[in-house]
Amino acid sequence: MKYIEPHAHMVSRVTDDYAKMTLAGCQAVCEPAFWAGFDRSSVNGFFDYFCQLTAHEPKRASRFGLAHFCWLCINPKEAEDVNLAEEVIDIIPQFLDGPNVLGIGEIGLNKNSRNELKVFEMHVDLAARHNQLILVHTPHLEDKLKGTRLILDALRSDKRIKPERVIIDHVEEHTVKLVLDRGHWAGMTLYPETKCTPARAIDILETYGDERLWMNSACDWGVSDPLAVPKTALEMKRRGHLAAAIHRVIYENPRTFLGQCPKFKLPKA
Ligand SMILES: [Zn+2]
Repeated sequence: MKYIEPHAHMVSRVTDDYAKMTLAGCQAVCEPAFWAGFDRSSVNGFFDYFCQLTAHEPKRASRFGLAHFCWLCINPKEAEDVNLAEEVIDIIPQFLDGPNVLGIGEIGLNKNSRNELKVFEMHVDLAARHNQLILVHTPHLEDKLKGTRLILDALRSDKRIKPERVIIDHVEEHTVKLVLDRGHWAGMTLYPETKCTPARAIDILETYGDERLWMNSACDWGVSDPLAVPKTALEMKRRGHLAAAIHRVIYENPRTFLGQCPKFKLPKA
């Protein structure tokens, strides 16, 4: 099988993960900027992280035959400090022309606070000014529905944003339709314990169809599985999905969305 991993935090994974993903048929991995598990103390921490995402990690991935792309932002988990967020947003444009940079992400909300929303809108403005794709993180558990609504309304109120150039990630049964109805793409995050399990993700696909939907592992430094996408593909096969339908969700769909950025190129077959 061939697949694209559209959301993985590879800086916190070991080389064995790269080797296993390549063996499983991964053609490209995309890494949104996120929280390190602790708050960075200054804008310099973000500068170094953006260098890691744009220069060092693609080199590490290439040793395992994998194309590596990234997204840049200050993650909502660190967006409570608006002054720091302003400083970080100011340094992002100097990285946007990097050959592996796909857009602004993963931005969004975590606790749905006023400051987080303000920083979200600052990022949307940055993306609009620089004509960038947007990848959005939605909050977990009981905050998800409210946070998703706040995000969708903020996106709609910025008339420069084209809905089909935005993917809203970590959707679940109660948010996927809202997202698709607004014309955005939707991402399902496959986690071994929390968020969407493979079975739930396939239920969602069977209920809502596979148009503008993709799946990702969002593997990071916590409990997560970098092979969640190919494992879910095997589960789809077991449940009777045809090979062409599986290929669409794990390869064609992410290629179509990400291909809106001309820098997203896959290795020739
Ligand atoms: Zn993430």
